[in-house]
Amino acid sequence: MIIIMNSDAADDQVDAVVDRLKSMGLDANISRGVEQTVIGAIGDEARADKEVLQAIPGVDDVIRVMKPYKIVARSYHKEDTVVEVGGVPVGGKTVQVIAGPCSVETPEQMKAAAEGVAGAGCRLMRGGAFKPRTSPYDFQGAGVEGLEMFRDAARAQGLPVVTELMDSRMLDTFLEYDVDAIQIGTRNMQNFELLKEVGRTHKPVILKRGMAATVKEWLMAAEYVAAGGNHNIIFCERGVRSFETQYRNMLDVTAVAVLKRETHLPVVVDPSHAGGKAWMVPALARAGIAAGADGLLVEMHPQPCEAWCDADQALSPEELKGLMGQLGPIAGALGRDI
Ligand code: PEP
Ligand code: MN
Repeated sequence: MIIIMNSDAADDQVDAVVDRLKSMGLDANISRGVEQTVIGAIGDEARADKEVLQAIPGVDDVIRVMKPYKIVARSYHKEDTVVEVGGVPVGGKTVQVIAGPCSVETPEQMKAAAEGVAGAGCRLMRGGAFKPRTSPYDFQGAGVEGLEMFRDAARAQGLPVVTELMDSRMLDTFLEYDVDAIQIGTRNMQNFELLKEVGRTHKPVILKRGMAATVKEWLMAAEYVAAGGNHNIIFCERGVRSFETQYRNMLDVTAVAVLKRETHLPVVVDPSHAGGKAWMVPALARAGIAAGADGLLVEMHPQPCEAWCDADQALSPEELKGLMGQLGPIAGALGRDI
């Protein structure tokens, strides 16, 4: 950490900073320039309180040198981490596509959806049994019954199950139903208590980006999960809020490139909640893979027009199959397969 003093800072103000650093267990290296004095803090930066130092009279700025995230950082683990979801590797050479309906509706819908997912060549299935809806009057999800419908349909096709957890009180039920990956949605990215709870399990966690979260905040949210002992984390970029009204969210492909550099953990892209329209999904999916994503999370419904949730962004099974065909050459250009 570096503390930059104001150009007119007095010696006793510099001393006050040094004393404060000592009380935090850090040493100081004072460098007096012609214009300004700069203090380098020596020791474990995690023990330094930036805000406290910033508040000392005479301090102009405090700059952290170390990254605040540790376990999720690429510097902690240089190689790409592969997260196994129900035996399917995410983050390796093969690009993985997690597909399925926005919400679990009926056993028939889930059976047809699972057949569509497997038929398109996808190896993982998504579906929400608990739905975070903007309106309390909208369908809230089929609940525990939905978990059962989902499990039965997915198991029949040999597909691991990915589903959203909104409330830690349901965590034990999720474990009982043996879901293969727990999705944490955009609205819960900074629900720190929920993150701590899933951090205590060993289930893979798909951590969606908060709709207005910076990459650093997102990495710190993942660090909450990792700090609890669960390092099976997959990031999911699903678009951020912007000024634009022509589409639902703005897919931040730059974040994919940044994350692949900052973390060793896998990154997937959700083109469905980004675009918000089925016709946009292929273009955004291609962009995500081209940017280096390890996979996709895509909404597909056996009859999109009949979907109880997010009908206008769901691909049909045929459209999903078509999309899978388009991704091969892009993955291939990056030395990957699908
Ligand atoms: C979803 O994947 O169904 C979902 C609700 O996504 P998000 O949390 O990104 O809005
Ligand atoms: Mn949805």
